Amino acid sequence: MNAPAQLIEGKPIAAKVQAEVEARVRELTARYGRPPGLEVVLVGEDPASQVYVRNKERASTKIGMRGAVHRLPADTSEAALTELVQRLNADDTVDGILVQMPLPKHIDAERVIGLIDPGKDVDGLTAINAGKLALGKPGLVPCTPFGCMRMLAEIGCDPAGKRAVVVGRSNLVGKPIAQLLLARHATVTIAHSRTKDLAAVVGEADIVVAAVGVRALIKGEWIKPGAVVLDVGINRGEDGKLYGDVDFAAAQARAGFITPVPGGVGVMTIAMLLSNTVDAAEARLKGR
Ligand code: NAD
Repeated sequence: MNAPAQLIEGKPIAAKVQAEVEARVRELTARYGRPPGLEVVLVGEDPASQVYVRNKERASTKIGMRGAVHRLPADTSEAALTELVQRLNADDTVDGILVQMPLPKHIDAERVIGLIDPGKDVDGLTAINAGKLALGKPGLVPCTPFGCMRMLAEIGCDPAGKRAVVVGRSNLVGKPIAQLLLARHATVTIAHSRTKDLAAVVGEADIVVAAVGVRALIKGEWIKPGAVVLDVGINRGEDGKLYGDVDFAAAQARAGFITPVPGGVGVMTIAMLLSNTVDAAEARLKGR
């Protein structure tokens, strides 16, 4: 019988990232005479999005960045949103632009993302940044996958030569984390809703990343003993509590390391957004 897995807690790792970013913010502000600037655009009143946006604003200003939020009504036209994004693209004091998803249905989210200057695309969602990631070139990487990689680094897990299974193939999480693991020389399998015998696929993994959105889809007995399990899923139970995609208690009994939900991967996302914003600012300010 294995000892239970060690927890990979998001909070201390995120705090470490934020402290590093804060030092870089101070340095950039002193050198260039202005702090890095992050502008978040929120359209509509989705309650979860309002909380996320407020947290992003607070976190950015807390470490000395200039954080601004544009709160637009739900009936904002795509033309008005386009105009705002173009204005932020042209504003030299803006280093990072994040359009909070989901957007109201009458707006073509993909088209709006495509408008963002790739150098300011701190969510890493434009085709240019996704393409750079696919080509193994430096660029801005989506925050949650970036956070997963930082967690692996913090526990001393080098993906090189390991079998990694990513469950989920979204552009936001599944595909980019698979690319990042590949870039670090893991042997990567992407599983998804049409995968046959998910249990056997997951069972081969030294590193499991679950990014589906189905509570306890990944059963504890599927986990290879000693594997590292990163649970990206966030699912609200009928009891109002948050649960991951992994059957936590059973998986903890077999894994070597596992992230809790809440308090795991989710905590990393804002820290990595701040890190991306400083990277974007540094690249722009140096390049002037
Ligand atoms: P998504 O809905 O875009 O993608 C889900 C993926 O899961 C799809 O690729 C689909 O093929 C796959 N899938 C669905 N059912 C499956 C099944 N039965 N077996 C195997 N694969 C299946 O979701 P997403 O945006 O990638 O998010 C995934 C989860 O991660 C959600 O719970 C979301 O809330 C969470 N999330 C967390 C953070 C964070 O921690 N900050 C960020 C983004 C997403």
